[in-house]
Amino acid sequence: MSVTVQFCGAARTVTGSCHLFQTGAGRLLVDCGLFQGPKTLKALNYSKFPFHPADIDTVLLTHAHIDHSGLLPKLVRAGFRGRIMATRGTIDLCSYMLPDAGSIQESEVAMLNRRNATHGRAEVTPIYTQADAVASLAAFRAIDYETWFEAMPGVRARYWNAGHLLGSASIELEFAGAGAGGKPLRVLASGDIGPDAKLLQPDPEAPTGLDYVISESTYGDADRPPITPELRRQHLAAEVRAAHAANGPLLIPAFAVERTQELIVDLVDLMNRGEVPTAPIFLDSPLAIRATEVFRQHSSSFNTELNVDRLLRSPHLRPTESVVDSKAIAKFTGFHVIIAASGMCDAGRIRHHLKRWLWQKNATVLLTGFQAQGTLGRFLDDGAKAVRIQGAEVKVAARIRRIDEYSGHADGPELARWIATRRPIQRGVFLVHGEELALAGLSDRIAERIVPAAKVFIPILDDIYGLTTSAPTPIDVSHRRRLAPEAVVALDWHNDMSQLILDINDRIEAAADDRSRGVIIRKLRRALEAQD
Ligand SMILES: [Zn+2]
Repeated sequence: MSVTVQFCGAARTVTGSCHLFQTGAGRLLVDCGLFQGPKTLKALNYSKFPFHPADIDTVLLTHAHIDHSGLLPKLVRAGFRGRIMATRGTIDLCSYMLPDAGSIQESEVAMLNRRNATHGRAEVTPIYTQADAVASLAAFRAIDYETWFEAMPGVRARYWNAGHLLGSASIELEFAGAGAGGKPLRVLASGDIGPDAKLLQPDPEAPTGLDYVISESTYGDADRPPITPELRRQHLAAEVRAAHAANGPLLIPAFAVERTQELIVDLVDLMNRGEVPTAPIFLDSPLAIRATEVFRQHSSSFNTELNVDRLLRSPHLRPTESVVDSKAIAKFTGFHVIIAASGMCDAGRIRHHLKRWLWQKNATVLLTGFQAQGTLGRFLDDGAKAVRIQGAEVKVAARIRRIDEYSGHADGPELARWIATRRPIQRGVFLVHGEELALAGLSDRIAERIVPAAKVFIPILDDIYGLTTSAPTPIDVSHRRRLAPEAVVALDWHNDMSQLILDINDRIEAAADDRSRGVIIRKLRRALEAQD
């Protein structure tokens, strides 16, 4: 039996996770994620899949995050008729997250169409609607961790707790008779791997003795100081006390699912113990409010001494479901806490709060996770003096802080150790799901030290490899790539443009007087004219 894998997403990018496995007997997907970040990548969400959805027998979903699950409603709408296998935790989260993603797409497209209409441009239809997302939920089937099941004829699969998010899994696959000497071909897809000592999740687990490992690389170039629950809480407490001392709000952009619940658990516990000043904690995200409910239902499964169910029901918490309640938060002054999505500030209600507070010195913004290139969160993290929000330029005077201890991802050494623990790995390690520096960083950590350098592969979007040979065999895909390789890795010109405008503003403001400002402007103008 021949087996191939096609990297249909998260290959030299950090979003859109999707691996297509094909045998003589059928096809299965591991994940079907939405592309996020740069516009060229996001455009792929609107174009056709690089396969026929009706030909896919099964989807194995590693976890609920939208960059892994977010194109499932489109897959179902485009003709997929198989089952989507996932853990109970993943299904419970997807039942809120996918409809939420559908309604975000509907409202984004409505806004875009209003703009298009004024410019006489054609209407755009959403990738899928909230109704499509609800319809796709019927395809989900629950499976247990560490239990084999038949994924499609000749292929069995088993899920392992990846310690990254409620319900998250690494997926072990066995292709009957396709390995050396008629043995099964064994493949492990990491999904996203959690860090050591994560608040609510156990450390990741997975099998050993594989032909191939496909590993995520999100933080492959990062080497964090060791994190303990005590250090994490001390750091958070220090940030909360500093925000209180500044006598303004503490804005926490956070992923609605898991990060928000971890922050609530720690914040409420610190308040209850008197380690930080007590204040209302506005939970300003309908999705986060629902996800908090799912976490309460699963609270007995969490790996913690804390009473998660009780902490998530604290009277300090003020869930603001409606837009009216959300807008009313703007009337608050002095110290209060606002937790809102999205974690990278590229969408969601956090943008209203940032617009209201970023220009004020007494406000604090606490970034709590990965900030992808091109997102507002990344600009803030990089120290931008001004940013654009909803078409308006907003000066940044607020204190911009970050806390890395809540990361949902293993760092470089933890990823390398996770890969090392899977040995022996006979044929190859594919590094996916990372930006360029992260992929190179993880490759440096494992090449020669953990597996021979010749067995480390960094595929690019739409690459196909044959897996049944003694080493992965690249198959020529030059005629069917969706994007040229340079376009996958290059930063979008939109991002370069925003950065350039911010830099020009910076320079002009920093100039000594109006005369020197005039000189800078004339020089820029000459450079432009030289291009004509
Ligand atoms: Zn994830």
